[in-house]
Amino acid sequence: MEKAEIGLIGLGVMGSNLALNIAEKGHAVAVFNRTTARTGAFFEAAGDLRKMIVPCTTLTELTKSIRPPRPIILMVPAGPVVDEQIAALREELSSGDIIIDAGNANFRDTVRRFAELENSGLTFIGMGVSGGEEGARHGPSIMIGSTEEAYARVEKILLDISAKYEGEPCAARLGPNGAGHFVKTIHNGIEYADMQMIADIYGVLRDGLGMKPDEIGAVFAEWNKGRLNSYLIEITAAVLGVTDQKTGQPIVDVILDRAGQKGTGKWSAIEAQTLGVSATAIEAAVSARILSSLKDERLAAQQAYGGGRFAKFEGDRGAVLRDLELALFAGKIAAYAQGFAVMDAASREFGWNLPMPTIAKIWRAGCIIRSQFLGTLAEAFEESENLANLLMAPAFVGMMGQAHPSLRRIVARAAEAGLPMPALSSALAYFDLYRQGRGTSNLIQAQRDYFGAHGFERIDSKGAFHGPWAGGG
Ligand code: NDP
Repeated sequence: MEKAEIGLIGLGVMGSNLALNIAEKGHAVAVFNRTTARTGAFFEAAGDLRKMIVPCTTLTELTKSIRPPRPIILMVPAGPVVDEQIAALREELSSGDIIIDAGNANFRDTVRRFAELENSGLTFIGMGVSGGEEGARHGPSIMIGSTEEAYARVEKILLDISAKYEGEPCAARLGPNGAGHFVKTIHNGIEYADMQMIADIYGVLRDGLGMKPDEIGAVFAEWNKGRLNSYLIEITAAVLGVTDQKTGQPIVDVILDRAGQKGTGKWSAIEAQTLGVSATAIEAAVSARILSSLKDERLAAQQAYGGGRFAKFEGDRGAVLRDLELALFAGKIAAYAQGFAVMDAASREFGWNLPMPTIAKIWRAGCIIRSQFLGTLAEAFEESENLANLLMAPAFVGMMGQAHPSLRRIVARAAEAGLPMPALSSALAYFDLYRQGRGTSNLIQAQRDYFGAHGFERIDSKGAFHGPWAGGG
């Protein structure tokens, strides 16, 4: 075999599948894994693709197997492991070579690593990959932050291995240094919100309407044919129909209600706050996972407050189901508006010039939040340059105008019934605040001036003013 076109370190779930994907698309790939036995097992299992794979047992062997300038993908756990790998590779690589971190890095680490390598002759690419195991194997969505020169060396490979939406590759260079990892982080933040809003609705169907998992699955399957069509709705319908082999019960009924998280949702919420952007649905979704982890405390609180007995949603079930579908759609619009507002603020803060229509387009296939909705969203950003907020795009004013009354009814009924709707109620509060021309912060300003002499603006004159408070300060 001629030299490999690219290298890959880390043959875990994502790395092994990405390597097979690269080989299958006709690009020779050299691979290395810390545990050598895994490299051997991977190569043995690669079948016909073995002719496109160079298994290596040392980093020296790996770098010698790749055509310069050598691009090497790291698919290892985010954090210090990436720094260790970069340090080891610096000993082996030459000027012009490219280290690509394809893990779920914090974009601030990516910016730092990019700067650290800048004067070494090596280049760093921060690359967000979404789609899980299946996506890595057959086509993920790929979000790239890099120099144009480094991207040119790997562009063909990345476009070839990416998911395709009606023939268009779901991979793009979105900006320099940390841009790709930032966009991947916000993708995951939106994913958190999407998943929690689906869980909010599942709670109403289970506890408010008393439906069984397979009935709930059928509702989601039906919704998947319409405006909510998406991968997350599809898999929700699928998991609700699966039976546990041990007990014969629906599997969702034997799964502990304690959700895990690795950090990207939390980072999304933190970055939103740091940038001064309201992302309530994403924050609520992260908080809901945190509260879910307090299983014992929640059981004790249920005892103390008599939770767990919910008022039923009475009345026309068909009408409630139609409201639930529209409520979920309205919540989704608000959550995506928030996610894109965070990216817009980051784009301005870091001078990235993020291409919003392209981001929506490369999320249409391959990634976890892929959906028909993202096509509509891309069109909205294409039609209105400098869109302040997705909620202000004409098409979305129409859709949200139609859907928000359902969100309001569902959140109100859930609140009365005692059913939590963390993400959907936060989305509703965001929408109501956003569209309120005269809010309540005049009172906040009066309070701040009373106790701290912070001053306020008046509606009838320019400048800073203080109130005639007695006893303030
Ligand atoms: P796995 O745990 O399956 O694999 C981890 C890989 O990293 C293994 O090859 C492992 O080697 C190697 N590794 C671990 N620690 C070290 C170390 N100290 N030094 C050298 N190599 C090390 O992880 P995933 O494939 O799931 O995830 C990889 C990255 O991709 C992570 O950043 C993750 O967040 C991201 N990601 C994961 C997704 C998923 O759905 N799983 C989706 C998108 C991104 P060894 O065999 O020797 O243990």
